[in-house]
Amino acid sequence: MKNKKKLYEGKAKILYKGSEPDTLIQYFKDDATAFNNKKKGQIPGKGVLNNFISELIMTRLKEINVPTHFLRRLNMREQLVKKLEIIPIEVVVRNIATGSLVKRLGIEEGKVLSRPIIEFYLKDDNLNDPIISEEHIIVFDWASPNELEEIISLSSRINDFLTGYFFSINIRLVDFKLEFGRFWKSDEASILLADEISPDNCRLWDLKTNKKLDKDRFRQNLGEVDKAYKEVAYRLGVLSEKEFKKVIKNDL
Ligand code: ADP
Ligand code: UDP
Repeated sequence: MKNKKKLYEGKAKILYKGSEPDTLIQYFKDDATAFNNKKKGQIPGKGVLNNFISELIMTRLKEINVPTHFLRRLNMREQLVKKLEIIPIEVVVRNIATGSLVKRLGIEEGKVLSRPIIEFYLKDDNLNDPIISEEHIIVFDWASPNELEEIISLSSRINDFLTGYFFSINIRLVDFKLEFGRFWKSDEASILLADEISPDNCRLWDLKTNKKLDKDRFRQNLGEVDKAYKEVAYRLGVLSEKEFKKVIKNDL
């Protein structure tokens, strides 16, 4: 589709009007940001890899009846999704202590949690995405009690499924961030999983060596960032090295 109408440009993706009613095109950029936009850079090929990785994960989740916005991949960097009313909450699921949890609460780095923790952050860059409680979500009407219950139940199912899925390719799913939105049909809204699931918003550690295979390599200047994303894509079987090289040569 030529001359697509740009609706929004974010830090990692661009949203265009979709070709079908109530749809959007997510275009995956190579841009990377961290620390609320203070650190900026590019990870060559990241957009292509995240498009393929997120397609695979959303497809697997659909197969276990987790409702998602994903419709189909359009090309190397774009996918068609259902247009949602995004709930302004970032849901973080944690299996192992690291990142802000360790900093905030002084928990030992790398501690395996006795059960997964689900946290909520307000999606607001101006306020630095502050952590919030279920009470805030209800009182300030960011989601209804029923919607919140559905979001928690889906997040927990997604974590159970993905933990096993990544384990099967020798990767520890340490933590990850999810977004949800409302899909309106007549006067009824259903909750769907939105955005993307990729090494941009998951922490993925190699099972044997604990090598970081995610955006922490960018955040912490660990080097070989693109190599880590490719490693995840190859292990998931979404793109062979040969295919990826061909794509990058003729990139959009
Ligand atoms: P950010 O907005 O944080 O910079 P991105 O660059 O990834 O993040 O932009 C993608 C934007 O698209 C996010 O704000 C996300 O909430 C929004 N989004 C994701 N999926 C959908 C959807 N199905 N419908 C509407 N908006 C969506
Ligand atoms: N995360 C994300 N977007 C954000 C904040 C966090 O995708 O704006 C992801 C991050 O990649 C990690 C998880 O959520 O997988 C938990 O992040 P944490 O709270 O530890 O934040 P950080 O250490 O990145 O500040």
